[in-house]
Amino acid sequence: MTKLVDDTDAEIGVQLPTRVEQAYTTWQSVRYNWGFLAIHLAVFAVFFVGVSWPALVTCLGLYWLRVLFITGFYHRYFSHRTFETTRVFQACMAVLGTTTIQKGPLWWAGHHRYHHRHSDGPEDVHSPLTGGFWWAHMGWLLAYNRNDTRWQEVKDLARFPELRLLDRAYIVITFGFAGFVAGLGVLLERVFPFTGVTWLQVFVWGFFVGTVLLWHTTYLINSGAHIWGSRRFPTDDTSRNNFFLALITLGEGWHNNHHRYPGSERNGFFWWEIDVTHYFLTALSWTGLIWDLRRPPAHVYEEGASSA
Ligand SMILES: [Zn+2]
Ligand SMILES: [Zn+2]
Repeated sequence: MTKLVDDTDAEIGVQLPTRVEQAYTTWQSVRYNWGFLAIHLAVFAVFFVGVSWPALVTCLGLYWLRVLFITGFYHRYFSHRTFETTRVFQACMAVLGTTTIQKGPLWWAGHHRYHHRHSDGPEDVHSPLTGGFWWAHMGWLLAYNRNDTRWQEVKDLARFPELRLLDRAYIVITFGFAGFVAGLGVLLERVFPFTGVTWLQVFVWGFFVGTVLLWHTTYLINSGAHIWGSRRFPTDDTSRNNFFLALITLGEGWHNNHHRYPGSERNGFFWWEIDVTHYFLTALSWTGLIWDLRRPPAHVYEEGASSA
């Protein structure tokens, strides 16, 4: 099925490409997702390069950092604009978010805003109601050409040429990040030779293993957080609050809260709803780089208390 949307936009002042969503055949799916598949296969290199504590620390450290870049920047800033910042730090957040290898900020935010507008309806491209767990998790991404940005959803962000550039040239950041991890490996090999660490080992753990973990952590919000857990708010979708998912996704597991009030910087609405991204953004606000962190209004809390 081919779906065409006219995306000429006078407001943004640029001729935007026409969005095409085309179902892939199995062969096309393998051919066009070779990078995705290759990075998964490369994880098996751990059996050849072995492991050491510097490699493991790099893997987990970069993994947690990049989870924060997705949750704090791509999700809570670019998708939902839940706080304010400067144009320079906005560009920094965009570059850091792009190290997660989930395409550019406009692509990510466009698809995510579309999910919120059509949650679990026929238009939602990654609802578990449509095709079950694996469809919502990654099938939606692999079975169709979803490469084009949903420009209509991100007009506010598309005004910035630096974000449009990053949306096209995200692959440069991917290679830049790969180079950074390899460089870190060379450094660790020199500083900690007694641990048996090699640069290649750091690269395999830090880049390949970390990226695959990060991808599936992100995907679990589209799959697991719409299947497992409790519902504080009777929203029109299947979103759930899930403590375990909130721990591993650094706060995104409070997904039913989030669907009820996506404009909030914090997804854990109470102190006991652990939301590491909220702590991270609060700490960032102390530096003055971001401000006006938005919270859920009182009536949302009252609604939650009465429907619990
Ligand atoms: Zn959702
Ligand atoms: Zn969201």
